[in-house]
Amino acid sequence: MNRRLTMAIPSKGRLRQPSWSLLEASGVSPQEPGERVLQAHCRNADIDLLFVRADDVPEYVQDGVVDCGITGLDLVFEREAEVEVLLRLGYGTCSLQAAVTMDDSATCFKDLNGRRIATSHPKIAGKMLGELGIEAEIVKVSGSVEIAPSLGLADAVIDLVSTGSTLRTNGLRSLGILFESEAVLVGRKNSQDLEAQRTLTTVLGSVVNARANRYLLCNVEKSRLDELTKTLPTKGSPTVMDLATPGVVAVHALVPAADIWSLLPKLEACGATSILTLPVERMVR
Ligand code: AMP
Repeated sequence: MNRRLTMAIPSKGRLRQPSWSLLEASGVSPQEPGERVLQAHCRNADIDLLFVRADDVPEYVQDGVVDCGITGLDLVFEREAEVEVLLRLGYGTCSLQAAVTMDDSATCFKDLNGRRIATSHPKIAGKMLGELGIEAEIVKVSGSVEIAPSLGLADAVIDLVSTGSTLRTNGLRSLGILFESEAVLVGRKNSQDLEAQRTLTTVLGSVVNARANRYLLCNVEKSRLDELTKTLPTKGSPTVMDLATPGVVAVHALVPAADIWSLLPKLEACGATSILTLPVERMVR
């Protein structure tokens, strides 16, 4: 009998809800998704889930407490965990940015030379600044990094930013991005359960890919088909089908969801009609 795969997922914080929703959409959600449950079996899959803090996932996977887990890429690098990044999950996107107070004279990373910088990511910060040849004093804080300058703890911060509103609210100005992060599926290096790990990666990946795309359908006059297909941001070839109306074809294509905004007016300009975009449930390349 095959051993069951064990997987750690965030029990609280920003990555909890989207991780649960990904498992649900993938058809491997927990059987008893109660708030206080620490462990659960998966419906429809030989996976046991362990609910832990996102911070703890890299070490749990590295030390073999579990076979794989979901956490932030920033946490994998900050913990210097010896794990395999199996899949980028497309949520929890954020970046580590250096920021100073509005009235600070710094305009670029180099201006941080010799200054005190507060961060909850001292290892990534030290490495990135080192690569830029910047020598700064890193002050490690575990939370509320953005208030460090107003408390006089530091001149600048290196903090996780998603929209930038927390920086602005605290009177800070970004000098730029040092590291980009998102939620990732990580697995044990040299895992004994490579096949199960691969299956899980394919199943979750099919949903992650699908979410990033839309199925586009539209009708267009045959004489303008070339013009229309040139505007499609599609890697593969679109499907083209004759309609009952002579001289008109239906075009079906998979397009990146992020391109829909700019694509619709272009399709209209090519004379496309009956334009539909549909969500895709799964997509295996
Ligand atoms: P938690 O502390 O459990 O809420 O999870 C924090 C993780 O969420 C971080 O390590 C990042 O991977 C991710 N994240 C995404 N956006 C942000 C943000 N704006 N601030 C902090 N963490 C974020």
